[in-house]
Amino acid sequence: MLKSRLEEVEARIVAACERAGRRRDEVTLIAVSKTHPIEAIEALAELGVRDFGESYVQEWQEKAAELEESVRWHFIGGLQSNKARFVAGEVALIHSVDRKSLVKALARRSDSTVDVLLQVNISGEESKGGVEPADLNDFYANVVARPELRVRGVMGMAPYADDPEEARPYFRRLRELFEGLVAYAQEHAPERAGDLREISMGMSGDFEVAIEEGATLIRVGSALFGERNYDA
Ligand SMILES: *Cc1c(COP(=O)(O)O)cnc(C)c1O
Repeated sequence: MLKSRLEEVEARIVAACERAGRRRDEVTLIAVSKTHPIEAIEALAELGVRDFGESYVQEWQEKAAELEESVRWHFIGGLQSNKARFVAGEVALIHSVDRKSLVKALARRSDSTVDVLLQVNISGEESKGGVEPADLNDFYANVVARPELRVRGVMGMAPYADDPEEARPYFRRLRELFEGLVAYAQEHAPERAGDLREISMGMSGDFEVAIEEGATLIRVGSALFGERNYDA
């Protein structure tokens, strides 16, 4: 089951890259394993998936402690400042940095560089985290002032829709914000501008559109693992 789902997702990634004139290695598949058991992670790791995304600190800690395979963890969920210390330095990339208090909490853990993405609220939905698009460059300036953190790019989510085409303008917007951010960095923090490489966007329902619009990291859960059951 996992194998055939992975093959199908992989074929869709390849096709989207072809449509967009991009190389397959420009896009990294992150398997979003929240709520799914460690056995499923191990099975996908054995099939060659290296990047896994989790959203809840305690769940991720339990899995990370148990897992024998070496994987790259991505923390993609909302992160409370008082839990920042558990994640900083322990995962490959934190996708959800969106406020100064969290930046401060992450920087306190300074024994290794913390790679982060700045989450942008492209959908305008109150319930989704992220800095307002208009505040992105100022927020970047705040983060980049801290040598403990390395900003690798941006993350965003389109509003839920049945038709993936509806996500396109949101993803296009995020890519434009990213390009604006690179230009800002080249002017204000030129030695750090080269760190900006990643656009994390696209989920099970819309990752092909995201790839067409420039995603470098896609976060795919249910298309790989099946539906999530939060009560399990
Ligand atoms: C759960 C989650 C995903 C994966 O969602 P699917 O629709 O199952 O692919 C991606 N990104 C974030 C931030 C998530 O919380």
